[in-house]
Amino acid sequence: MEKDDLKSLKGVGPSVEEKLKNLEIFKQTDLLFHLPIRYEDRTIINKIGALEADVEAQVEGEILLSSMIFRGRRMLMIQISDGTGIMALRFFTFNKYQKDALKKGLTVRCFGKTRKTTSGIEMIHPNYEILDPGKKNLLPKTLTPVYPTTQGLSQGKLRSLISQAMKNKLENLEDLLPTKIASDLGLGSLSQALKETHHPKKESRDLDTLSPAKKRLVTEELIANQIGMRQIKRASKKQSSVPLKKTDINQLLISSLPFLLTESQKKVQAQICSDLALDIPMMRLLQGDVGSGKTVVAAMAMAIAVDSGFQSALMAPTELLAEQHKQNLDRWFEPLGVKTGLLKSKLKASEKRLLTKNIASGDCQVIIGTHALFQESIEYKNLALVIVDEQHRFGVEQRFSLINKAKNNGIVPHQLIMTATPIPRTLAMTAYGDLDNSIIDELPGGRGEISTLCTSEEKREEVVEKALREIEKGRQVYWVCPLIEESEDHNRESAEAMFKKLSDDLPGHRIGLVHGKLSADKKNKAMSDFKEHELDLLVATTVIEVGVDVPNASMIVIENTERLGLSQLHQLRGRIGRGEHESFCVMLYKNPLGQTAKERLEVIRSSRDGFYISEKDLELRGPGEILGIRQKGVVGLKIADISRDAYLIPKINKVCDQFENDFPKESEKLVRRWIGNQINYRNV
Ligand code: ADP
Ligand code: MG
Repeated sequence: MEKDDLKSLKGVGPSVEEKLKNLEIFKQTDLLFHLPIRYEDRTIINKIGALEADVEAQVEGEILLSSMIFRGRRMLMIQISDGTGIMALRFFTFNKYQKDALKKGLTVRCFGKTRKTTSGIEMIHPNYEILDPGKKNLLPKTLTPVYPTTQGLSQGKLRSLISQAMKNKLENLEDLLPTKIASDLGLGSLSQALKETHHPKKESRDLDTLSPAKKRLVTEELIANQIGMRQIKRASKKQSSVPLKKTDINQLLISSLPFLLTESQKKVQAQICSDLALDIPMMRLLQGDVGSGKTVVAAMAMAIAVDSGFQSALMAPTELLAEQHKQNLDRWFEPLGVKTGLLKSKLKASEKRLLTKNIASGDCQVIIGTHALFQESIEYKNLALVIVDEQHRFGVEQRFSLINKAKNNGIVPHQLIMTATPIPRTLAMTAYGDLDNSIIDELPGGRGEISTLCTSEEKREEVVEKALREIEKGRQVYWVCPLIEESEDHNRESAEAMFKKLSDDLPGHRIGLVHGKLSADKKNKAMSDFKEHELDLLVATTVIEVGVDVPNASMIVIENTERLGLSQLHQLRGRIGRGEHESFCVMLYKNPLGQTAKERLEVIRSSRDGFYISEKDLELRGPGEILGIRQKGVVGLKIADISRDAYLIPKINKVCDQFENDFPKESEKLVRRWIGNQINYRNV
């Protein structure tokens, strides 16, 4: 059998080997599973005369002119012609060797993205090759793969290494899936699947359908992911935590609340209590729609930790939310003698010293903050419970930093991860399969209805009238100008313009403005003024999206709704309807609306069920929208696409039991093959 080490490949020295390690490639076989992110079509030559702007194209032409020009900076301009037209190649970085090689009269073949300038079509930094007139210069027959890479490792290099590895290893590649499973699921052969994925024929480029070859790889990856999650879950159950059992303070807290817990809250609270009582860490995901009352559930868990003599930390994504949590918790905890502390980024030196001291001594029992919670200067006395609010706003790394900080002689804290973005079941199984799942699926009673209206922005004046009527009734209004531009400056401008307009339209009423570019102090001031009803209307970018609780707000107007995801719209709408008043959500859109945009708005208009909405969002926009950052990180699937392939997951889950039990070695190898070291990383 051929060797599997990287060094025996042509073109691999110590430095390339090091770079491959960054990509989690340690042996030749790993190269086979380094899959393309996209493809380039280099099977044909395009005519220069027929080129459009902003497309990827391959052209061949004779060099007419090569010149250095200075336009603020030095650049190399090459003009080429193929008889149908002339185009330019523009280079900002180049060396002398490149410049001398691109000589007038030679023929080049180049591949790149076209753009249109006043003087015609050009490509910036295309891939190019000078053709040898004595040779045939054949075109590839299959699509050219583009791989995920790392600095200093070119596509050409990766392609060459992967081709070599394919030659050496493909034939004897171990088929880890038992034939029975492969045939039950209708999968093609692994080696064929890899061949077709690295070098697909042009006809099979359609990315939305699952060919048998692709289905093979997708299934393998999803099986590996599921088994990996189960392994993490089992491993976490082998860790130790302190059992937290005393519930006196918890009982006092419940009886002091000005409301009765909902059945859902009671059910979840019971699940959490029994988790906390064990000497293995709780690892629980708590999903509950906006306004379903997750904070009080968190407080009950913390009360149990306090009672048992341990600290808890509550991590929120923004300072504003951290502050709101602090206020709520103080209202509940102060009468019970429980001491809380808020770790803000901007504390006076003396305040910070005192708080740090109280955290280290254990005087401060409940610590609230943003990621400031795990800064180096903070030492906890005995952190036994970590609660993360609005998980999707954090990277996994941040949660892990906090947990690592809390780790003490191998004792791991209990963890409760809360999210207001309902996650479709299939996606939750893939992304959070290592966590136990709790769901609060009812809203507290006594809340007013919300009516949702979708209307064109041409009707904005009528909406302003409606807002005025709400304000005159003593209610408050949010006016949201969401993030629609890449640049934060533009967003600020649109929010500022709206602020000005509404101030003119609604004279005599108190109007505030909050956006991401304001200092934390100003942001907090605007939000707390709104909360205290010092303001009637608040113009905001999406900074108000998560968690803020103002029961008197009865109307929200959202601009540019056609540009937002459904989950995000649902979150925004959740800012109202928190009190007893009837509420209105007005979604303004720009005409004309495309078909998908229409469908999306209809989904949100007709439903308030967060799970239904997120299922639709997954269908229409994919998992990134729902999971945010976590999707890119750890579940980082190479080929499976949750929105396209979700339907496979229930079936795959059934197969996993049998596979793990009957073929433990193979299933372990399959996890290594697809997930590699990521699994160690997650296993804190
Ligand atoms: P979320 O789940 O969105 O974080 P919060 O915890 O902020 O929701 O709760 C929203 C509001 O509902 C808060 O004012 C909270 O005090 C209140 N609340 C929580 N549980 C109940 C309940 N069972 N009955 C009435 N109001 C409740
Ligand atoms: Mg909340």
